[in-house]
Amino acid sequence: QAAATPLPFENTYARLPENFFARISPTPVSAPRLIKLNKKLARDLRLDAEWLASSHGIEVLAGNRIPDGAEPIAVAYAGHQFGHFVPQLGDGRAILLGEVIDRAGVRRDIQLKGSGRTPYSRGGDGRAAVGPVLREYIVSEAMAALGIPTTRALAAVLTGETVARETALPGAVLTRVASSHIRIGTFQFFAARRDIDGLRALADHVIARHYPDVAHDQNPYIALLSAVISAQAALVARWMLVGFIHGVMNTDNMSIAGETIDYGPCAFMDEYDPATVFSSIDRAGRYAYGNQGPVAQWNLVRLAEALLPLIAEDQDEAVALAQEALDAFAPRFEAAFLAGMRKKIGLFTEEEDDLALVKALLDIMAANHADFTLTFRYLNDAAEGDDKVSSLLAGTSAVQDWLAQWRERTAREVQTGSERRTAMRRVNPLFIPRNHRVEEVIQAAVQHQDFTPFHTLLDVLGKPFDEQPDRTQFSEPPKPQERVLQTFCGT
Ligand code: AMP
Ligand code: MG
Ligand code: MG
Repeated sequence: QAAATPLPFENTYARLPENFFARISPTPVSAPRLIKLNKKLARDLRLDAEWLASSHGIEVLAGNRIPDGAEPIAVAYAGHQFGHFVPQLGDGRAILLGEVIDRAGVRRDIQLKGSGRTPYSRGGDGRAAVGPVLREYIVSEAMAALGIPTTRALAAVLTGETVARETALPGAVLTRVASSHIRIGTFQFFAARRDIDGLRALADHVIARHYPDVAHDQNPYIALLSAVISAQAALVARWMLVGFIHGVMNTDNMSIAGETIDYGPCAFMDEYDPATVFSSIDRAGRYAYGNQGPVAQWNLVRLAEALLPLIAEDQDEAVALAQEALDAFAPRFEAAFLAGMRKKIGLFTEEEDDLALVKALLDIMAANHADFTLTFRYLNDAAEGDDKVSSLLAGTSAVQDWLAQWRERTAREVQTGSERRTAMRRVNPLFIPRNHRVEEVIQAAVQHQDFTPFHTLLDVLGKPFDEQPDRTQFSEPPKPQERVLQTFCGT
């Protein structure tokens, strides 16, 4: 049921060899209803927002109509899940409609998630419940507003059908936008099959699409590995700087383009503790907040292994080259973290003891169960003499000593307190998608079909660095009875 639509699709992924994907259409749903259309993103994608919100547009967003020019496919990938290799995963409940070129000239995937079964569904129903769809919408858009590379949410629709989980829940479809949906696991899919032609076709596609500069390198495939290492080191450092915990950093959930992807049991920390884990299935804490750097590196070693056949004919030489590239991860990650932390505590210059100063603050925060976000936000005001940050840190002598050291350090810079405060406010958000607020939004939607809290929270999180005097409740940590201790995979 093709429909003439103003969606200018291209389909470069569907031009790749046939074993890269399965051609499959979304499964129609009974009663699509728009929850939310991201009009600003639609404009950035050069899409007609008015048409998308029309009944024809909603049919497309629900998977009931295939727009003209789309070549719907489910994409194949593999991946290490909690350290165990699974040779065949793939889009089990997602369908790539096609690609559009955005206003900046960047190719972006338009994908429906929750759009029905595919050949990769295994035991799953191919559907998504409204809760996880709202969670992904909120958290991915919050990440974008924080300036962190991420997939985006273009729309959420209700299907009018229920999905069977522990209880029957309203079904929904998310329209996800990404620079691409290619993952470390996509490379592993071909490497595990010893499909070297497929591996090379994928690598060449990724180079042309994401890292065109490396094409001119004398060894483009090692340069590709280095580029992905840099992108992921920078990305995970950004997560650390806002207290974000991805929760399920399996290799199939790590984007080759360096975007945050696959928002399942993800969460932001309230109290600072590096051992924080929310995901109900992460019993060993493999994906704890403080483990995200090392885990990203572990995943990149898997990418390097997959690329070995392309890197050099002599595999010993390939391993040596890959090892050298991988050695760059830790210093890059640590440098990105330190540079970001310097900004968070308002430093404009670099001194050797800065990392020790940062670590001392983090230790005091951990010892006092201080709220991660508010500690840094209140420190902004300390730049102009306000001491309310010490109240978060229990007013201990340790915090007084730390503030004294910090004042000594900042006094060696030329900036005024007000300049420092302004700079700090641009990097230390007041509003993050706190778990208890996300949970509140989901409960209102599931129990009362009330999407007002969803719209309000999205609006607040769209301006994370601004004071929003009538919205202060959204900046507050949970009260003891509001605390959410566990999050669940996005089913
Ligand atoms: P995730 O845990 O979301 O990264 O998903 C891991 C794998 O399970 C991917 O191949 C998904 O496509 C698949 N999957 C997750 N949920 C479903 C579902 N409801 N139906 C079919 N496949 C699913
Ligand atoms: Mg996934
Ligand atoms: Mg997922």
